[in-house]
Amino acid sequence: MLLEIRDLHVSYGKIKALNGLSLDVEKGKIVSIIGANGAGKSTLLDAISGRVKKNRGEILFEGNTLPKDVHKVVHTGITQVPEGRKIFAGLTVEENLIMGGITKPKASTKGTEEEMYKLFPVLLERKHQQAGTLSGGEQQMLALARGLMSQPKLLLLDEPSLGLAPIIINQMFDFIRAIRDMGYTILLVEQNATKALSLCDYAYVIENGQVRMQGTAEELMSRSDIVSAYLGEK
Ligand code: ATP
Repeated sequence: MLLEIRDLHVSYGKIKALNGLSLDVEKGKIVSIIGANGAGKSTLLDAISGRVKKNRGEILFEGNTLPKDVHKVVHTGITQVPEGRKIFAGLTVEENLIMGGITKPKASTKGTEEEMYKLFPVLLERKHQQAGTLSGGEQQMLALARGLMSQPKLLLLDEPSLGLAPIIINQMFDFIRAIRDMGYTILLVEQNATKALSLCDYAYVIENGQVRMQGTAEELMSRSDIVSAYLGEK
């Protein structure tokens, strides 16, 4: 198992965001976290990447406890692609990619940069353009590509479809599938549960900071309570 989380508790003051959550992520898979607003999805990613502190519980990565410091977590091979496409708006596309690979030796990231232009040809066309002038979909592609520049062992994706037009959302999910097929492991947080299930190898439904259900997409879609609560959208 690449990532093992056991009995994780995280609070913001009196608010319990995660309340005894446990899950596993297997190498080479896409694992989705599905849940309503406020269920604790972003907190889970932030706890893994070290952005928020846990109260108790265990997060094991390749069998080892993760460091507490967010910068040290990056060096273990975990990269979080944040919600809202927080790219460096004032830098060019190429400069953003270079920043994404900053933790790696330069020689090793040149090849990754070329790989990213192959995967996202629109980024090659816009290589010297300021990132802030890209469309929403292009900015999300850049955020993904920037995250991949560090060749992470685990990619944490927070709501990659947020705010995008339906056609662009489909494209984004195709890219995520392609990234998994390149060998990457992905933990995906998504409100668009139908899309997330269409793509993932395994999913966890979380409610009030706990796992309510888990299974393959097929298993979850055979549950009428899950379908009516989470899969109403088209
Ligand atoms: P969404 O899909 O709306 O982003 P989520 O499932 O990602 O929701 P979280 O953002 O993890 O949920 O929030 C879990 C709970 O913790 C919510 O009740 C939220 O209001 C609370 N919370 C999140 N961040 C903070 C914070 N910085 N300070 C106080 N409470 C917070």
